Amino acid sequence: MSEIEIPEDHPRYQSLLTRHRIEEGVNRGITSKQGLIAEGRGEAFDYLLGERTIESADAAERAAAAQLLLADHPVLSVNGNVAALVAPEIVDLAEAVDADIEINLFNRTAERMEAIAAHLRDHGAENVKGLTADGRIPNLSHERAKVDADGIGAADVVLVPLEDGDRAEALGEMGKTEIVIDLNPLSRSAQVAAIPIVDNIIRAIPNITDHARELRTADHDQLAEIVAAFDPEAALAAAEAAIREGELA
Ligand code: ATP
Repeated sequence: MSEIEIPEDHPRYQSLLTRHRIEEGVNRGITSKQGLIAEGRGEAFDYLLGERTIESADAAERAAAAQLLLADHPVLSVNGNVAALVAPEIVDLAEAVDADIEINLFNRTAERMEAIAAHLRDHGAENVKGLTADGRIPNLSHERAKVDADGIGAADVVLVPLEDGDRAEALGEMGKTEIVIDLNPLSRSAQVAAIPIVDNIIRAIPNITDHARELRTADHDQLAEIVAAFDPEAALAAAEAAIREGELA
């Protein structure tokens, strides 16, 4: 038994665990009610993917690890769903690639910002950004544009899991290299990403960390080669094909 009263070999274990974590997130003021809807959408796509990391997603996760290791100033963006689902795993990835963690909310409230920061700190995050909000993403309305000037504002590479399409687009226009995790290959966020990862964040984050640890000894040219060999359009097409063909396990 784990954090839910269901054995790990239960066929629906992963989706039940995910639902449980999101529900807990809402109860603790970390996740918004809209986050419940986003979770439902993601779950439907994951079901069609067979709740597994497809080969093209693993390649994207490897390219993401290489891109984060190459970055001068990488930032991992965290919203209410990300915090509820993978807080310790985000802290671990930040350590593996030497990245900042920044809270970045679509529905920003001071209470939720604080609750997420406390939750991340409970899991070992030392320097949580996003609370200063002294920077802006151009072409977005006031609340949604807020970032830390020395966090996402100054980042060259940003990991934005489960991001809203408008903000993903606006970040791209700022010249940031974006790595997006989204189970919907047709979402605008996935479409504008330099590296779209079509996988459940629960599987994606630990896998990026594993790749990053394995690539730690790779030199600049080897990392750049991995990034250059990655084709975002081919990855999105492979994910869409897997969903449409529905090779359900
Ligand atoms: P866009 O504006 O990019 O088209 P959207 O407005 O449809 O996106 P939301 O409804 O905010 O997006 O949902 C967030 C996205 O996150 C959805 O595309 C959903 O598939 C995805 N998602 C939800 N849960 C997960 C998860 N656990 N792992 C990966 N992706 C997820």
